Amino acid sequence: MAKTAQGWVRNFVDGAFIEPDDTRWYDNIDPATGAAIGRVHEADEALVDRAVTAGRRAVAAWSQTPVAERAALLRRAADRIEERFDEFVAAEVGDTGKPITQARALDVRRAPQNFRSFADTVAAAGQESFITETGDGRRALNYAVRKPLGVVAVIVPWNLPLLLLTWKVAPALACGNAVVVKPSEETPSTATLLAEVLAEVGLPAGTFNVVHGRGEVGETLSRHPGIAGVTFTGSSATGSRVMSAVAPRVRPVSFELGGKNAAVVFDDADLDETLDGLTRSVFANTGQVCLCTERLYIQRGIFDDIATGLIKRAHELELGRPTDDATTTGPLISAAHREKVLRYFELAQHEGAEVLVGGGVPDLGAELNGGSWIQPTLWTGLTNNDAAVREEIFGPVAALIPFDDESEAIELANDTDYGLAASVWTNDLRRGHRVAQAMHVGMSWVNTWFLRDLRSPFGGMGLSGLGREGGASSLHFYTEPTNVCVQL
Ligand code: NAD
Repeated sequence: MAKTAQGWVRNFVDGAFIEPDDTRWYDNIDPATGAAIGRVHEADEALVDRAVTAGRRAVAAWSQTPVAERAALLRRAADRIEERFDEFVAAEVGDTGKPITQARALDVRRAPQNFRSFADTVAAAGQESFITETGDGRRALNYAVRKPLGVVAVIVPWNLPLLLLTWKVAPALACGNAVVVKPSEETPSTATLLAEVLAEVGLPAGTFNVVHGRGEVGETLSRHPGIAGVTFTGSSATGSRVMSAVAPRVRPVSFELGGKNAAVVFDDADLDETLDGLTRSVFANTGQVCLCTERLYIQRGIFDDIATGLIKRAHELELGRPTDDATTTGPLISAAHREKVLRYFELAQHEGAEVLVGGGVPDLGAELNGGSWIQPTLWTGLTNNDAAVREEIFGPVAALIPFDDESEAIELANDTDYGLAASVWTNDLRRGHRVAQAMHVGMSWVNTWFLRDLRSPFGGMGLSGLGREGGASSLHFYTEPTNVCVQL
């Protein structure tokens, strides 16, 4: 069992759960109530080293396992997650406080999809090859053989724990790597359950390892000389620290970092469809999705209609017990994160924001008031010069800012140090394509948001990241080519 009867969440190294000791642990907190729901055994340096060493041993055989066998194992993992679906849902809801309906429809649902998608991608992948003509009568065949990196460190955040973890673990394993996973300290449970599942479906010992702990454990892992690369999802500040940690050994990194994403709404947009989309993009997962919209640029002619519609929809959100089917909106991940978001609420008002809705902490009664709840919030009156419009808040909040024409909208949306995602709302087909392409971001949506094809490239520019994952982009990151040139 991933969790012991005493509620310990354990590390998983070299095919076995490690017995926890009483000297290194912290409480696993349910953010909906503030109550401790278990204890997490924090890995020390020696355990991280054991995990990397086990990975190095395992990767020798796993990298030589035929692709079809690796893909079949990934598919069995997908099936097994579906068989244990409710356990994953309960673990994710306990750790994050997110609504059970969302955990079912998005988080846990995406895990088997990730495994199946990368099983398909790796099974269908070809190799680059060229017939070379030198001009002096010689000919040669060039072909690139792609090989796994080795042991990959996978460091992930708390907002979509299982979804983001499997998004990286599936392609890494599909390509023949071993992994050492460091889940967020806030959300250790589903990674631990995944260790059980992968062992059940026959993944060789040492190929998948989980080490728990706070940032220092991630740092120890990133610095480990046995690590061949780091794939990291988290804040831009931590990404920068990981980059420094791997710099002395010049290891490849893939970074999916923060965002300060814009939506651009033109006055010809379909009002209801746009309001539904914007409501999701601002408030989904209590605003704790890297792709969430925190800057809303709205053409003047439709500004009041959008503002009025969003206020109405914000009032309709149901904050409540995560396990109730009617709940649409959970708490923030922790008391510390709520402090951060509330500081931005204060700062925004200091910067001249008018609060259209929300702006504080809700009263949800004795059972929930110990949790990290916050009100869905909308502002007007801010500009791109304000810190609340420039910095990632990572909460259920957005600033509504008017614009007059297309070029102004593009300029405003691109006026940011980040570059993760954008959405454009318009019924003008040509303008939709044009503006979406002009966005300085990794992913641009037209008349939708967070609609994903797992084969398409995912990642960001600027402070939002480095490199792309998804489909063939993932195969590129998790492998390295050796080019062979044969004179014919
Ligand atoms: P975080 O950067 O605080 O932590 C992410 C992970 O890194 C955690 O596991 C943490 O323990 C670990 N870590 C912390 N310090 C470390 C260090 N010095 N070395 C190595 N690892 C370290 O981020 P968070 O608060 O968990 O997540 C929220 C952030 O993640 C937001 O900025 C959000 O935008 C971003 N995010 C980005 C994407 C994306 O795809 N671009 C997706 C989800 C979340």
